[in-house]
Amino acid sequence: MKGVGDRLTDLLDAAVAVGPDRPAIHYFDGTVSYGQLNRESDALAAALQDAGVAQGDRLMLCLQNVPGFVIGLLAAAKIGAISVPVNTMYRQRELADLVADSRPVAIIAHGDLLAEVIDDVPGAPSLRYQVNPRDRQGENPDCLPANHQVDGAILLDETISAHMGRIPTRAETDPLLLVYTSGTTGKPKGAMISHANLCAGALYYRDAATLRGAGGVLGAAPLFHVTGLSGHIGAAIASAAPLVLCYRFAPETVFTEIERWRPSFMVASITAFAALIDNPAFARERVASLRTVFSGGAPIPPALHERIREATGLHVRNVYGLTETSAPVLAAPTGEETPVDPASGALSVGRPVPGTSVRIVAESGEPAPPGDVGEIVVAGPSVVEGYWQNPQATAESMRSDGFRTGDVGTQDAQGWFYLVDRKKDMIIASGFKVWPREVEDVLYTHPAVREAAVVGVPDSYRGETVKAVVSLMPGATAAPDELTAYCKARMAAYKYPRIIEIVGELPKNATGKILRRLLV
Ligand code: AMP
Repeated sequence: MKGVGDRLTDLLDAAVAVGPDRPAIHYFDGTVSYGQLNRESDALAAALQDAGVAQGDRLMLCLQNVPGFVIGLLAAAKIGAISVPVNTMYRQRELADLVADSRPVAIIAHGDLLAEVIDDVPGAPSLRYQVNPRDRQGENPDCLPANHQVDGAILLDETISAHMGRIPTRAETDPLLLVYTSGTTGKPKGAMISHANLCAGALYYRDAATLRGAGGVLGAAPLFHVTGLSGHIGAAIASAAPLVLCYRFAPETVFTEIERWRPSFMVASITAFAALIDNPAFARERVASLRTVFSGGAPIPPALHERIREATGLHVRNVYGLTETSAPVLAAPTGEETPVDPASGALSVGRPVPGTSVRIVAESGEPAPPGDVGEIVVAGPSVVEGYWQNPQATAESMRSDGFRTGDVGTQDAQGWFYLVDRKKDMIIASGFKVWPREVEDVLYTHPAVREAAVVGVPDSYRGETVKAVVSLMPGATAAPDELTAYCKARMAAYKYPRIIEIVGELPKNATGKILRRLLV
C-alpha cells in the first residue's frame, strides 16, 4: 500500500493544506500560490483528458524554467500521463531520437522551439501547447525573449483559463517521468522515474536544505534535468516553499531575483557558482539570503571550492548522483568539512544519503576494501527500476545488488567517497554531459573527414571542453573553423568541439581501435 508522501500529488496536497495562499512559484514579478498551482494543474489535466491524453501516454515538455513546466508536470501526474522533459538546447536530430523512443501524444514547448525545431522532427505530435516566456512574469524584464505566436499551437494559459474549475479523473500511475540519459552506444535511454523515486529525492533535499518553514529554492539548474525535477520542483513542493524561476541561468538576472525573493537554497553545477562569483555584478550582499548550497554533476576543483567560500562565505556541499538515481546518493553532510584526497587532490563526493546504500565493488564483484578502486554500486529509494522499453540496458545496469553506475571511485576508512574517473569516457562541459561518440558520429558525416576522435580537455571556465582530433580524406581539405561550424549546426551548443586539431593519422591500438586517451 502506498503511504503519504509516495506520490508527487500527495506532496502537493500536503503543501496546499499547509497554506493555499503560500507562494509556490515566483517568476520575476509574478507569483503563483499553492492553491492556484493545484487549481491550474487540475484545469490543465482536465483539458489534456478532453484532448484525448490518457493514462500512460507521454507528454513531452520542452521548456525553460517557467511556471508552465511545473503546471504541466503536475497536470500529467494527476491523470497518470508520463512527462518526458527534454533539453531545450536539443536540435531536430537529437529530439528525433527521443520522440522515436518515447512516442509522445502531446508536447508543451515555447513558440520558437515549436516553429524552428519541433516542426521538423519526424513523429512529433500534432497536439501542441505553447508557453510564452513573457506570460505570468508581472513586469517585462529585458532578459526574456519576445512571445512567439505559432500557428496550430494552443496557448497553454488560455487552455488553463478555459478549464478553470474542472477536476480531472485522477489516475496516478508510474512511471511519473522518463528522463533521458545517453548511453555509451549513443542510443538514448529513458530512466523511468516513479512517484516514489521523485518523492525520496524531494524529501532528501527538503531535510538536507532545512527548507521547512523557511526560505525558498533558487531554480538555478534546468528543470528538465533531474536536479531541477527533484532538487527544485520536488524540494519546493515537499517543503511548501517557493521556487524562484528565472527562465534560464544568467548571472545578472539571478542576482536580481535572489535579492527580490531571498531564496535560501541553491543546487547547481559548479560552473554556475563560478559564473556567479566571477561576474562583474557580483557582490557578497547580493547572494546573502543563500544559506545552503549544493553542487553536483561534475567534479569540484578544491581551489574553486575555496574561492567560492572566500567570495560568498558559503560552503558548497558536493553531491553525487545520476539521472538513474534521480537525486543525490552521496552528499557532503551538514556541518562537516569535506575532505580532499591527499593522493589525487580530489574533493570528496560525500557519504551515502540516509536510506541509501553505496558500495565500491571490485572487478571480481566482491566489495573493495577501503582505498581500493572499484565501480560505484547504488541501491535506495531514489534509484529507478529500469529504462523505458529497454530490458537489455535495464538488465545490464540494474543488478540484484544495486545499480551499476559506470563510475569508478574509492571509499576511505572514514566512509568518505571519492570519484576517480568516469568509466565511460564522458565529457562534462559546463555541467552538461557530452558523449564523445555522438560528436564523432556527426564529424564522420562530413565528406572531408576520414577519422575523428573526441575527448574532453581541461578548461578553467567550463571544467572540460570538447576537443576533436580529425584526419582527412586523401586529397580533401577542411579548415578547423569549417568543421566547428558544421558540428555547431547539428548539435546543442555545449556539445560542438571548441578545439579541432587536424592530424595525418590518429593513434590506434593493435586491433585498430582509436586510442582516445592518447589525445588528451
Ligand atoms: P547525469 O545522469 O547527467 O546526472 O550524469 C551523471 C554523471 O555525472 C555521473 O555518472 C558522474 O560521472 C558525474 N557526476 C555526478 N555528480 C558528480 C560529482 N559530484 N562529482 C563528479 N562527477 C559527478
